[in-house]
Amino acid sequence: MENNICPVCGGLGWVIKNNGVKKCVCKYSEITENIFNRMNIPKRYRDKDLSNFVPDPEAGHEFILMRIEDYINSDDYEKGKGLFLVGSPGVGKTHLAVGILKEFFRRKGIVGLFYDTRSLLFKLKSSFDGSSSAREILEEVVETPILVLDDLGSERLSDWARDILHYIIINRYNDLKPIIITSNIDLKTSRKTEGDILENTLEERMGQAIASRLSEICEVLPVKGKDKRGSSLTEIK
Ligand code: ADP
Repeated sequence: MENNICPVCGGLGWVIKNNGVKKCVCKYSEITENIFNRMNIPKRYRDKDLSNFVPDPEAGHEFILMRIEDYINSDDYEKGKGLFLVGSPGVGKTHLAVGILKEFFRRKGIVGLFYDTRSLLFKLKSSFDGSSSAREILEEVVETPILVLDDLGSERLSDWARDILHYIIINRYNDLKPIIITSNIDLKTSRKTEGDILENTLEERMGQAIASRLSEICEVLPVKGKDKRGSSLTEIK
């Protein structure tokens, strides 16, 4: 793969142009499109990458990008280590998680899997009649070399949803398979919101067994900054 890589896009299938993103004319644009489909990267985030995440120095984004680079370049993922990106909505957590998945593919040829947690649970529930499709989805999520669980813990979980997430996380933990998590709530320590109301933690929502495993295997990276939703900085041409 290394030898045939396109010198223009570096195998990404697209190039950055005038602060926006454009499809490359090489064969990689089609190949990567198929791979991004396999990775389940949502269309809205197809053009998101670590290179077009604009760091806000006041929000400490340079440090976050540096830790992410270190993570990708290390062999931590082989030891089952992951990342827990936590912060308010719209600060770029999903953008970063997609960027990490793409870099793993580009640099190491690893094809991971992205799931919005709520959509995953919904998909499993709607096919959970003992059918093979639910089992296949679950198997894929447990087996994939690198899994992104986007927006974990954004709502209260039913017992069923908790059990499914336990199954996924415990199996990946036991098999040393990394998880990249994005979340709006802290893993363990509660923080106060503007209205002084204590927010839930993942520990409260998912239980101590899961929270302690996640804190053992994930580096927590607090992502700060302004809510950028609705003022996207990139444009697909
Ligand atoms: P979150 O997952 O934290 O809720 P997103 O990653 O969905 O936020 O970001 C919302 C939108 O803002 C996306 O289009 C994302 O690409 C954009 N965005 C957020 N932060 C940045 C940044 N620092 N540089 C470029 N785009 C950003």
